[in-house]
Amino acid sequence: MEKSYPLTILGHIDTFMALKHQWRTFATESKKGICDYPRMYRNNLRFALFAIYPAAAPYHILSGMDEWFQKIDNPNNHLIHIKQIDDFDKVKKSNSIGAILHTEGAGGFDSELKTLRLAYRLGLRSTGITWANVNQFGTGFLFRSPQLDRGLTAEGRDFIREAQKLGITVDVSHLNDRSFWDVMEIIEKPVMASHSNARSICNIGRNLTDEQIIAIHEHHGVIGLNWGTAFLDPKVSPKDFSHTDPNIGFDVILKHLDHIVELTDISTVGIGTDYDGTNVPKCLDSVDKMPKFYDYLLEHGYSRQDLEKIAFGNFYRVFNDTWK
Ligand SMILES: [Zn+2]
Repeated sequence: MEKSYPLTILGHIDTFMALKHQWRTFATESKKGICDYPRMYRNNLRFALFAIYPAAAPYHILSGMDEWFQKIDNPNNHLIHIKQIDDFDKVKKSNSIGAILHTEGAGGFDSELKTLRLAYRLGLRSTGITWANVNQFGTGFLFRSPQLDRGLTAEGRDFIREAQKLGITVDVSHLNDRSFWDVMEIIEKPVMASHSNARSICNIGRNLTDEQIIAIHEHHGVIGLNWGTAFLDPKVSPKDFSHTDPNIGFDVILKHLDHIVELTDISTVGIGTDYDGTNVPKCLDSVDKMPKFYDYLLEHGYSRQDLEKIAFGNFYRVFNDTWK
């Protein structure tokens, strides 16, 4: 039966990491956490970038990938590892969830990029450069002690070039401003900010400035909206980002969405979420509330076609453009 709400790609979820801390499995519906197979499937959230986090040291990448493939190989999880663009259709025709292998940060890859090339062969299709830290490739946004003068390193430039050449989507979320602009200077394919919001609505360096939003758009990239209250709340300031409001409503998320669309157009926005990795507002603390959010957008100026782009089309386009 055709679902009444759109097929969705979630741009960033930390579910595989959360499962082990919450003593739950992906296969069975749980009262803990947010994403598992039954809850995602019934809400038509059929695709996600399942992050390996942290990916800051070689051991994290090895053990993270080993655990990742154990999840994929378990038939009870109904997961299909997406490695090429045609795999999206395979998932649509199945009763499975499509999983894209993503490393949140690159500190665990070696500077000669041997492990990056190996990871590509194993099916890595998306990578960040840093989390909220500094590594041999670049500089993340550090919440309490921003390092404004450090950006990408020479190794970081090689990393980006090699990732794009291989067909791995580059994720600029978590970078500091200097690193962001260093990335934009050398990219030849679209980039994504898999889970970031608008800094002019919520003023924290983890979000994107208007100029950054426009630059991503000019490179035909996509920005996945982040449900984290710390990245949504307009009351957040660079000095005070720890007390955020769990009662934030759809109206605040709409502000971020409207702002990005006004600066660019409907082709620039996707659904990032950051589910199972951050504190989210009550209005979206379960994936069963996602259809209500989509209904809200339909009531606030977005068409069904717009919704299909936001939920699926824009991320899909970026994968199609970067994986070949
Ligand atoms: Zn993150």
